Amino acid sequence: MKLILLGPPGAGKGTQAKRLEERHGIVQISTGDMLRAEVAAGTPIGREAKAVMEAGKLVSDDILVRMLSSRLDKPDAARGFILDGFPRTVPQAQALDMMLAGKNLSLDAVIELQVDDAALTDRIAGRFTCAKCGTGYHDQFKPTAKAGVCDVCGSTEFTRRADDNRETVGARLDAYHKQTAPIIPHYAQAGILQVVDGMASIDEVARQIDQVLAEIH
Ligand code: AMP
Repeated sequence: MKLILLGPPGAGKGTQAKRLEERHGIVQISTGDMLRAEVAAGTPIGREAKAVMEAGKLVSDDILVRMLSSRLDKPDAARGFILDGFPRTVPQAQALDMMLAGKNLSLDAVIELQVDDAALTDRIAGRFTCAKCGTGYHDQFKPTAKAGVCDVCGSTEFTRRADDNRETVGARLDAYHKQTAPIIPHYAQAGILQVVDGMASIDEVARQIDQVLAEIH
């Protein structure tokens, strides 16, 4: 299965992508995670991307397209993938079409998670992740069972993304509405757009996504 999860920052793309990965054995490809790894490793791409990401703006299409193309060539993507955070602009969507055609692949569905802007700032500002196993939490909506201890692996170290703050959220939402939302009609016209209510609980959104996928197959 080859899917795109589309939606504004904080819509739950990463959370749902991880669930799909577990249930369907297909790999989550998050361009945000890939860029954060480049920043952490201090690579030339990371050095170029760091300030752009911290400002809540989009990194250049050129870098992203090259990064995604080589990621899709890795063996674990052969069974299927969930794109999380790509494409984010019309040129990226066009490049993806060409890339997939060149690899003889096609998308099964583009799932758009619809969420009110007003809910996104609170969702984003409270996010944190276990530094050891990567499990995602939220101060208010999904706290750890025992304060300061990861429910899954027991680690006491957590990280917060540099761009998950109230100041940067505005710029990220702006980038979504101006640069990313215009790709939605592209997939609607292709007949593969599926809309899911991202305001529902994590379990309910997962159920709706499963229902959509069951209808497709
Ligand atoms: P995310 O983890 O998807 O929220 O992405 C975090 C940040 O990484 C974004 O705010 C952008 O600065 C950058 N980024 C991730 N994916 C892309 C993309 N496809 N195109 C441009 N910038 C991206």
